[in-house]
Amino acid sequence: MVLKFTGSFTQQEAISEKAIEAAIAVMRHGRLHRYNVIHGETAETVLLEQEFAKSCGAKYCLAVASGGYALTTALRASGIEKDDIVLTNAFTLAPVPGAIHGAGGRPVFVEITKDLVLDLDDLKQKIQSTNAKFLMLSHMRGHLVDMDALIKITNNAGIKVIEDCAHTMGANWNGIPSGRSGVIGCFSTQTFKHINSGEGGFLITDDVEVMARATMLSGSYMLYESHLAGAPVEAFENIRYDTPNCSGRMDNLRAAILRPQLADLPIQAERWNKRYRALESGLNQFEDIRLTTRPSKEYFVASSFQFCLPKFTKKQIMTFVSGCEARGVQLKWFGASLPIGFTSRHDSWKYVDKQKLPKTDKILSVLLDMRIPLTFSMEDCDLICEIIKQEVKKVSLEKG
Ligand SMILES: *Cc1c(COP(=O)(O)O)cnc(C)c1O
Repeated sequence: MVLKFTGSFTQQEAISEKAIEAAIAVMRHGRLHRYNVIHGETAETVLLEQEFAKSCGAKYCLAVASGGYALTTALRASGIEKDDIVLTNAFTLAPVPGAIHGAGGRPVFVEITKDLVLDLDDLKQKIQSTNAKFLMLSHMRGHLVDMDALIKITNNAGIKVIEDCAHTMGANWNGIPSGRSGVIGCFSTQTFKHINSGEGGFLITDDVEVMARATMLSGSYMLYESHLAGAPVEAFENIRYDTPNCSGRMDNLRAAILRPQLADLPIQAERWNKRYRALESGLNQFEDIRLTTRPSKEYFVASSFQFCLPKFTKKQIMTFVSGCEARGVQLKWFGASLPIGFTSRHDSWKYVDKQKLPKTDKILSVLLDMRIPLTFSMEDCDLICEIIKQEVKKVSLEKG
């Protein structure tokens, strides 16, 4: 009998009853806008910001409309000027170069290693050759680079680091929460990330001026005083009239459903990692499959899984992907010549100056990726491994 998987790779868990109740309460009172509060009331959005700041030990937190918005705002709030170069990972998702472009910057891509993190040697070279003052560090698919080594390099070069933590909410490097090593950390609460409000995001920092600017940028009008996890009122004195309002606020309805999810994040992280470990041990040391090595200092939250088929040709990978697909296992291949669905590659962002990234291209040409929604059971993970192994075997036998 041919094994088939019938689960959905895009089905997240339902919103909990507690979160639904909280959302209903907001709808019943009707004050969905974060600045629409009655006397003595603290908005859900403000409470969420306080809780998120506390969860990662940040001084300040601003909740916004999306992760991409947080990234653009982070660059603007850190003083980017038109045509400034922003270094970023060559392997990332479209919102990252999009945010750099949106803030008026020019993305320059840095190669990645086979463990899918920034290549620090190439980083040093690109710092030298571009004189860049910003690095938008994308912790793509939840893989953390050696943060101690990275910060040493960027500090030496006087580079401001903005962390894209879309896949690392709840993760840490050697105990330091992701988003806390750079000047700013940006997070997403979009459905496929670690907490789900459909759309949404956070920006965290300890820098008082950055937070004051980000708050004005997000569309606070002169109501910033209500931000209890925000910059103190004095910080707005010098910036409030010269910082544009580029609306991108979070609302109380989303905040209400995020608060219970944030409280559950450590538990959810362990559930994700349990599934990841099952996939990892199922596929480990299987002919032709290469897994990424995860450093011991990295605590990850694995909402997705990556592996490589380094010996396969493009054609073989296409055969493998469609073989898996026919059996219900949806894999994303980052080597496809045209972007499909959420997948895209540095050379498909035509608004960015063309760049040569041979190392990254080589890695992406054999890289496969899948989501691990929490609706998957442990048995589901075993079944997925079995199907992948059978399909790998099938293709490699055809080869010889
Ligand atoms: C999802 C994502 C973002 C942006 O998040 P949105 O909330 O969808 O704007 C940024 N970077 C990466 C790597 C992402 O996966």
